Amino acid sequence: MSRAPLIVEEQVVAELRELRLPGISKVFREVGRQARQEGWTQEEYLLELLQQESRSRLDHVAQRRIREAGFPSQKTLDQFDFGAQPEVSRDRLIRLARCEWVKACQAVLLVGPVGTGKTHLGIALGMEAAQRRHRVKFWRAEELVRLLTEARGQGEVTKLMKKLDRYEVLILDELGFIPFDRTGAELLFNVLAGRYQRRATVISSNLAFSEWGRVFGEEKLTAALLDRLGERAEVVSTSGSSYRMRRQEENR
Ligand code: ADP
Ligand code: MG
Repeated sequence: MSRAPLIVEEQVVAELRELRLPGISKVFREVGRQARQEGWTQEEYLLELLQQESRSRLDHVAQRRIREAGFPSQKTLDQFDFGAQPEVSRDRLIRLARCEWVKACQAVLLVGPVGTGKTHLGIALGMEAAQRRHRVKFWRAEELVRLLTEARGQGEVTKLMKKLDRYEVLILDELGFIPFDRTGAELLFNVLAGRYQRRATVISSNLAFSEWGRVFGEEKLTAALLDRLGERAEVVSTSGSSYRMRRQEENR
């Protein structure tokens, strides 16, 4: 089979488009050159192309998952200054970045004062999960409670709960900044209790567990929730003063 190389190349591109293999489309010329130079077998060449396609698909899915998560900004573990948080173990976070807690449907609780990196860590863990193709959603607790309350008003709370249930990781940020009313507290409780042992959840809060009763308004509800969450949760405690304030003071 000897055809003009350029015509073959055009046909390859057309077939790849038809078969929706854009990853191979991008690289096959370069991979072909490398294969010739290094004397790869045809099978090695084929394998490399297929792997490139898989990789590019994974990237696409990961990008979509990150987009869908609705992070307020993109923060990564690499950007986290562990030196500023001696109580937060880098090894532990690296372990959590492997996302076994997602598969085990555990909760991660990030607890500590304002400005100490809880949201940063929550987003970073969410990004790791999204990169592993897990469905992730980020909400400020107050926002989700508002959404739930609205849905309830419109008789659509079951629909919203079902939608939330599809997320393998739900990140609830800043629980405790603003107390909920009774309805809001109950709705949020139902979401969290429903995820227990079925889905992973990340919660960040500037309140100590003993203060959660204030947010949920009801001690019994809170005790039940903490019982469930706490049982198998990974608790990461941040401490000290606000990272930014500290940096500003250092720079003065
Ligand atoms: P919190 O949620 O605990 O109030 P944030 O995660 O929002 O704190 O942190 C406030 C800002 O400071 C963010 O821009 C965050 O990226 C940054 N920050 C906080 N702690 C660290 C840290 N240890 N290393 C790098 N950046 C940090
Ligand atoms: Mg925060």
